[in-house]
Formats: sequence, structure tokens, C-alpha cells
Amino acid sequence: MTREEYANFLLPECKHDRKYYEEKYPKRNLGENVIVTRLAPSPTGMVHIGSLYQGMVASKLAHQTNGVCFLRIEDTDQKRSIDDGINVIINSLKSYDINFDEGPILDNNMDKGNYGPYIQSMRKDIYQAFVKDLIIKDLAYPSFLTPEEKEKMLSIEKARKERLGYYGKWTSKERALSIDEVVEKIKNGEKYTIRLKSNGDFDRKIVINDSIKGKIELPENDMDIVLLKEDGIPTYHFAHAVDDTLMGTTHVTRGDEWISSLNIHYELFKVLGFKLPTYAHLATIQKEENGIRRKISKRKDPEANVLYYKEKGIPVEAVKIYLYTLANSNFEEWMNNNPDKDIEEFNMTFDKMSTSGSLFDMDKLLNISRNYLSKLTAKEVYDNLLSWSSIYDKEFNNLITKYKEKTIDTLNIERESNKPRKDFAMYSEIKDSIYFMYNELYEAKDYEWQKITDINEIKNILNIYIDKYYDESLNEEEWFNNVKLLCDNLGYASNMKEYKKEPDKFKGNVADISTVIRVAITTKSRTPNLYDIIKILGKDEIKRRIDMI
Ligand code: GLU
Repeated sequence: MTREEYANFLLPECKHDRKYYEEKYPKRNLGENVIVTRLAPSPTGMVHIGSLYQGMVASKLAHQTNGVCFLRIEDTDQKRSIDDGINVIINSLKSYDINFDEGPILDNNMDKGNYGPYIQSMRKDIYQAFVKDLIIKDLAYPSFLTPEEKEKMLSIEKARKERLGYYGKWTSKERALSIDEVVEKIKNGEKYTIRLKSNGDFDRKIVINDSIKGKIELPENDMDIVLLKEDGIPTYHFAHAVDDTLMGTTHVTRGDEWISSLNIHYELFKVLGFKLPTYAHLATIQKEENGIRRKISKRKDPEANVLYYKEKGIPVEAVKIYLYTLANSNFEEWMNNNPDKDIEEFNMTFDKMSTSGSLFDMDKLLNISRNYLSKLTAKEVYDNLLSWSSIYDKEFNNLITKYKEKTIDTLNIERESNKPRKDFAMYSEIKDSIYFMYNELYEAKDYEWQKITDINEIKNILNIYIDKYYDESLNEEEWFNNVKLLCDNLGYASNMKEYKKEPDKFKGNVADISTVIRVAITTKSRTPNLYDIIKILGKDEIKRRIDMI
């Protein structure tokens, strides 16, 4: 049996050879400094904030050079894949304005782009063609190691305090199997994987120049790692080398958890005769808990899931700005200096990326969001609130649809000015801060009275206010003057300075009286501007609410 026949025997389903695929996917014709990046998530049913971050960085870096950013679905671990996983990924990223130039298309079995299929489970023949080539060149071999044998090997290594893995002397028996012996085993029904015949020496070092981390030094790989699993599906390492080469990735931007396997990738690219891409290992997004930093975890942290931000109604723009601040240390300064520019005009660079973990700071994100929301017009907030609530709060959606003008007026309180109010960071917080504007939601209970708590005094103040000093036609200054007159009438100080000088002379001051009015009509001690609230609610409603106390 020739080596070709042997390779075909080991991979009987493989239809093509390496040459076929190399011709099918010619090198990309790229201009100088144009880069090609990709996002390569697994379709697990949720998009992790780290994936969104990586996708944003990858697409920004490529697009600012007029390059290409493509999406590749890594579904080789069938246990972790879910049916709708691909749509979830495409939809979520799209909602953050991340569009891929190439990749799978929503609800479709077709791809966009000339380097597909972009779904790994559809690339079986491609991987096998390259493995076949390695077998022919005697750079890979079939391995019959059973899980039990592997366990045994690992426990011996552990007991001897040796490096764990399949390397050196452990591999010699299988490496020495003759073709005839292999053929016989397979004919007897023994299952096999295909392993790399590593040429590496653990005592030698390799150096890789990472665009973010700088020089990375690692020992050479000497493990005979699995290339193809028993079912003919490749491992991450092998698929990475084949796919990123055939798909023409120039810059592999991925999480830095892959650094420890870089020596494997280095060797794979070498034995396959591929040019090593440029690596840019991104610091993972971390969280600090009890003084200890750890990765944001899908299991423990709701904010790990990109859906969380949607549900809370944190605007896409705020999340984007925040992720840009995480990506480049000079971004915030740029944004402060260019407040009117679109953030897409910012030039993202590798050298301003963090080399250690980036700490995810929810307070900072919410601050950015508060700022962002404060700059929108009332109509913009209204429209966004309408679409958020149509999914996440139907009851509120009905109300704000019914009372469109009133809602816009309410949202406009202390907005569209130089110093706008910054009282909410998410659309989900708005209802809580303005619910009292709707009779359907208003409840006359849990009044947050402050200094003045005597209910008779309160009622007295309010009755006199509504009978004598309330007038719908007043402007804000006149309105406040009337509140002051009310103070004078009732023995409260209308002038704060005078009050501070001789507090004992008065029952209280104008702030106490305003608070009584505020709490009486909203139940809350802190609200947006009282005058505006009163104007929007109107006399009948004010009177009705006062009567409810
Ligand atoms: N599927 C891998 C992951 O989700 C991709 C890593 C890469 O970008 O190469 O971690």
C-alpha cells in the first residue's frame, strides 16, 4: 500500500485533496496595510459580552483599513451547539452594528463571500484533505489510544510529577505501528483519531510577536495533539490553522486564553507549510469580586450575556462607547476632544490595547449611558422607549402610546438644555422615575414626607395653596413667587437667607413647602422639576391628588 492509498484508507470519506482546496481559495488580493480579521464564536445560544467586544474590535480594525471582517461559526463541539445558535449570534451582533462582510446569512443555508462555507461543521472535507496530506508526508498518524489508556497515562504522569500529555516516550509505540498493523486494527473495528507527529523539542523556545502583548516566548510544542477526532471532526487547533489560512485572515484577534496553545499553532502552521498570521491576543474582560479578578462568567454573571443590556434597555451606543474605552486607552480623551464626531472616526490601534485583563466597570458603563441619554431629544427618548417597552414592558408601552404628547412633555423636563438632567441610564428605569404622571399607575400611598409630617398642617398648606395661590397661567418665576407668598402667609420663611439667620422665627422655609407640594402630587420627595410636573398634570388632576391625601 502506498502512502496515498494508506491516507485514503484512513480517511475514506474525503473527496478532494489539499491542492484542490488551495486552488479553490486563492489568496486575497489586498492592498498595502489592508487587514482581514474574523470573529469565530461557538453557537452556544448566547452571545457573551467578551464576544461582542472581540467582534467590535475585529470589525473596527479591519474596516478602518477598508479590509474584511468575516464571521466563522465554530460548531465542532456538537454538544455545545444549539439549533438557533447561528441566528442568535448574527442578530445580536447586528443589533450592535457589527456587520460582517462574509459569513453565514440569517435563516439561510447560504454564505456571503468566496471563502466559505463559514460554518466549520460544513468544512469536514477540507480539514480531511489537509490531514490526508500530512499523513502522506508522514507528519500525522492514526492513534488508537482509548480514554482509559489516556487516563492511566495521565495518572502516572501526575504521580511522577511530569508534564501532562501525549508526548515523547508515550507516543513511541503508536508511532512505530506499521501500515499493515494499522490496517488490521481498523479492519477489526478499532476506533482512531489522527494525531500530529510532533517534531518539537520542549527545551527549545519559540518567540512570537503579538501585536498587543509584544514578544511572547514559549517552549516548542512536543505534544502529538489530536487533529481529527474519531468522528472526523477537527480540533480547534487544527481548524484554526486551516481556516485562518484558507480564509485569508491576516490578523487573528482572539481572547488571550489561547496564548498557552500558541506553540501548538506555531507548529501546525509550520508543518502545514502555512504562513503564520499576525496574532493579537485581547485581554479578557474581567470582573472584580471580593478583591479577586476573574473572567466574567456565563454561569455567574447576568451581565455576561449581551441580552442583559437589551433587557435593561441600556442603549447600544452607550455599550459601544464603553467597549471602545475598554479597547483603547486613548479613546476617552479622543471622545472628549471630539464630542461631535461619530465614534467610527476614531482610529483604533493595537498599541493602545490593554495587555492585562480589562476590568468591566458597570458603574462606568451606566455613567456613559446616563450622559448619552441626557443628550437625546425628548422625542428620541420617547421613540426608543416605545420600542424597548414594546418588547419588555407591554403595559407601559400601551400607556405611553395612549399619552404620547404628555409622555414627550414629561421626558422633556430639564432636557434639551445645556445642563440636562441625568436621571436614568437605562430605558427600564424611566417608568420608575415618571410613573406618577399616569393616573393608571399613580397610587396615593407611601408618601415621602420630609420635614413637615403633621397631616393637618400638610392639608392646610395644600388647601390654601390650591385655593389662593394656584394659577395655571403663571410662568415658572411667577409660580415660585406665589409659593413664596404662601410661605409668608403661613409663617414659613420665603427667603432662605433670612431663615438661616433666624430659623426659630419661622415654622420652616420655602423648600419645606415646595416639598409638601411635590410629595402631595407625586408621593416622591425627589422628582424632576416640580413646576413642569404641575403644568403637565393640570389643575384638575392636582386637586384630585391633593384630595386623596
Ligand atoms: N471558537 C473559539 C472561541 O470561541 C474562537 C477562538 C478564536 O477566535 O480563534 O473561543
